[in-house]
Amino acid sequence: MNAPLDHRDPLVFDTRELGRRPGAMKRLSRSVPAPADMGVEFLGVPEGTAVELDLRLESVMEGVLVTGTAHAPLRGECVRCLEPLEQEAEADFQEMFSYPDADDRSRGSAETGDDAEEEDTLFLEGDLFDLEPVLRDAVVLSLPLQPVCQDDCPGLCPDCGARLADEPDHGHDDAVDIRWAALQGLAETIRDGEKDDQNGAAPGADEKQEK
Ligand SMILES: [Zn+2]
Ligand SMILES: [Zn+2]
Repeated sequence: MNAPLDHRDPLVFDTRELGRRPGAMKRLSRSVPAPADMGVEFLGVPEGTAVELDLRLESVMEGVLVTGTAHAPLRGECVRCLEPLEQEAEADFQEMFSYPDADDRSRGSAETGDDAEEEDTLFLEGDLFDLEPVLRDAVVLSLPLQPVCQDDCPGLCPDCGARLADEPDHGHDDAVDIRWAALQGLAETIRDGEKDDQNGAAPGADEKQEK
């Protein structure tokens, strides 16, 4: 269904050294360029920047258990004040890559109804596995959905858009608004007063008003 894995792909790993001997283990570190779409709306790892991976590959009966940590630079913006953000992602992951043949045999027909588990199963292709989906999920899940530049970021002024963290004393002259409100109230009073006058006025005046 997918293109065959290419061992030259930096996110494809070779497990041949483990030799399918349960208990065999290998540790490795690798710096890989970040794949595309590794992030959420306001925060993510820019494509192509270096992601530092530390992995432990363990051979187990049904496949290879991969445990690892990823460190990557994050770029984004604060959801409250839109200030650019620079952070670092640290994501831990653990994933089982099963031998395709082992999986066919160990999962009897009784288990085939368990669709959720079936979908989650990742397989080795020969001696290779592709870490990309695992890495992406781990990093994306580690990200805050609402990243902020500081926990108590006050955001932007709703009236003029100024960044409030830069101007702690920012504010608009509320007195202006109060005066306007007072004027408006006065205007309404005058209008109401006119209506009252009209009610008591001559019939001719009423006709003029209604045109
Ligand atoms: Zn902010
Ligand atoms: Zn303002």
